[in-house]
Amino acid sequence: MNSQQLFEKSKKFVPGGVHSPVRSFKGLHTTPRFVNRAKGAYIVDEEGKDYIDFCMSFGPLILGHQDEEVKGHLVEALNRGWTYGACEKYSLDLAELIVSRIPFIDQIRFVNSGTEAVMTALRLARGYTGRNKIIKFNGCYHGHTDGMLIKAGSGLAGTAEASSLGVTPHTAEDTLIIDFADEEAVTKCFADHKGEIAAIIVEPLPANNGLMDLPQSYLEFLRKITKENDSLLIFDEVISGFRVAFGGMAEKTGITPDMVTYGKIIGGGMPVGAVAAKEEIMQKLAPVGSVYQAGTLSANPMAMIAGFHTLKRLDDDFYIKLQENSQNIAALFKKWLAEKDYKDYKLVTSSSLFWPAPTHNWMNNVNDIPANLTERFYNLFQELLDKGIYLSPNAYEVGFVSIAHDESVKEELKKRLWS
Ligand code: PLP
Repeated sequence: MNSQQLFEKSKKFVPGGVHSPVRSFKGLHTTPRFVNRAKGAYIVDEEGKDYIDFCMSFGPLILGHQDEEVKGHLVEALNRGWTYGACEKYSLDLAELIVSRIPFIDQIRFVNSGTEAVMTALRLARGYTGRNKIIKFNGCYHGHTDGMLIKAGSGLAGTAEASSLGVTPHTAEDTLIIDFADEEAVTKCFADHKGEIAAIIVEPLPANNGLMDLPQSYLEFLRKITKENDSLLIFDEVISGFRVAFGGMAEKTGITPDMVTYGKIIGGGMPVGAVAAKEEIMQKLAPVGSVYQAGTLSANPMAMIAGFHTLKRLDDDFYIKLQENSQNIAALFKKWLAEKDYKDYKLVTSSSLFWPAPTHNWMNNVNDIPANLTERFYNLFQELLDKGIYLSPNAYEVGFVSIAHDESVKEELKKRLWS
């Protein structure tokens, strides 16, 4: 069966034919490609057509698909078993590696996804501070836990309503939505809710509604105001962690959050998330503390091994090479966009992330994003797909470059772009 047939069949058994909405190619007027296999920077669909992959499973595969070293360790471990629901050494190795390299973390708890990490972080922040409310920014995505599926209300800044059916108004009340880079609204929120705000959660590199340009001074402001109000600052580094630097945006900016959430790269392509902080906060988690958190498959050996052998490779030389790959790829896309029918596009880049945006304006706010983004993206996406270049299949998603997008991939990209 080809992708079209498989998708039709899939829609019978699965809502929308997919297990995560963005895979459905909604609004892109083409069928999702069913991936048959992948290696390095390439994926191959059921029809046997190969694509240079810039989605990379939405970020975890910083080493590329099927990295030989990670695979070797996985196969070796698989022969001993793949889940125990008991203590094992792999999660200790990964915890030690992370804690030893990120100075503001004393302890870490592994969960199964970024969503779970955020859910745990919010509960922990509430348990630690004894407060209920969380400030979230308009346009940041923090997974699909109820309290984060909230959008700005129609009233004043700081009001909120559910952005999904099934989220109760009561839940929405505890999330205060604010526009990016708005200092006044945050200050007002703290004044209006004195002693009620447990934490601010922020993507320090906002990369889920395109790639936003958030000034470092704003993160510094958030650090200051949370300290002044005895609230916690949570950096959601599910995308930026281990990508912009080993210690993510916290390392890159020198701004220390009270708590951090990780996902994606931390599991090397297996399902993992994590929440980490100073010991004083982490000791509130069960079984030592009374903030409950658990998971049948948490710290699954396969995920711990893939994560450990991925993170072990992320040294200074690795990041220099990754930056080189990213600059090469971005330069080609920029040149091509400018030469072809996409002159109104700019390529927004940050470390190994890129986002083709149909505007030349500076953007630091979701309200700056052109309203017809998906329509505009459709032609670009389809043209590249035909050329064997696979972008993340959604206008608001960023592209990911890996260490496998090397010189030979650059040459192949050049060939395909101008074919
Ligand atoms: N937080 C951020 C910043 C993310 O980008 C994502 C997913 O893209 C999540 C949380 C949720 O992670 P997951 O999809 O693993 O549940």
